[in-house]
Amino acid sequence: MQIIDGKKVSAEIIEQIKIETEDLKQSSGKTPGLAVVLVGEDPASAVYVRNKGRACERAGFSSFEHRLPGDTPETDLLALVKKLNEDSEVNGILVQLPLPEGMDSQKVLEAIDPAKDVDGFHPVNVGGLASGISDLAPCTPAGIMELLDHYQIPIEGQDVVVLGRSNIVGKPAALLLLKRNATVTICHSRTKNLKDITARADILVSAIGRAGSVTADMVKEGATVIDVGINRGVDGKLTGDVDFEAVSPKTSYITPVPGGVGPMTIALLMKNTLTAFRKQNGL
Ligand code: NDP
Repeated sequence: MQIIDGKKVSAEIIEQIKIETEDLKQSSGKTPGLAVVLVGEDPASAVYVRNKGRACERAGFSSFEHRLPGDTPETDLLALVKKLNEDSEVNGILVQLPLPEGMDSQKVLEAIDPAKDVDGFHPVNVGGLASGISDLAPCTPAGIMELLDHYQIPIEGQDVVVLGRSNIVGKPAALLLLKRNATVTICHSRTKNLKDITARADILVSAIGRAGSVTADMVKEGATVIDVGINRGVDGKLTGDVDFEAVSPKTSYITPVPGGVGPMTIALLMKNTLTAFRKQNGL
């Protein structure tokens, strides 16, 4: 069994991006820029936004942080997005979710210029992903693909089971794996005989959001297990969806929580920002 070290892979990716960014700055005189918009006081979101700013620094990007109060009218948020769409120093725009109640997240996401949609949530990019032509895929699923590739885990022809069908993780993860010729099964809360399905998986991706959802009897001997879940226990400790202690001895590869998929999400956000920057500047 090998533990997949997302922290290390993420740091390597950001280091590589920094080198590329330095070269691009030299040749073009321009710097990639990411704008992050946070509405309200959600503490978890505030931590994510701070981490994104720090990652920008490490990558050599400009970072623009916009903090708006929780009672900001939706029209003001839409006006800010429009301004950022038009700002040539901003190559990527990320509106931190969830937005406060009463705001229409979909409307806000659709207001972002698809070329600057580094989260990959705009319908244009979602459609591109479904057609296999998008280069701005959602960061968490794209991070999963980077981890599999880094550890040279075969994907083509493998039986892959994805637990969860959200637009942020499950569905795009399934599409990326399908593009790489895996045989993909998507499971959700209404799936029957879950154990029979997961027990066939060469690669099992869990994005449910409930601790203890994946037990040892659900996992095939030698499988790769990717745990996307982030769950906070009563003791405040973070755990994934997978019963790590019982499951890990059966696996070939497994991601821990924390330190597995989590750090990859930010690395892929940097990668998407660099991709958007290159495209917008014809580099
Ligand atoms: P959602 O709540 O949007 O989706 C959860 C999915 O799990 C749903 O599709 C749901 O099915 C499915 N589900 C619920 N119960 C079961 C079950 N018993 N068996 C099979 N499927 C089930 O969550 P997200 O996709 O946004 O996030 C999933 C987890 O990943 C969360 O813990 C979240 O915190 C974490 N996360 C981690 C990230 C990272 O960077 N590491 C980034 C994003 C999320 P149904 O559709 O039928 O309701």
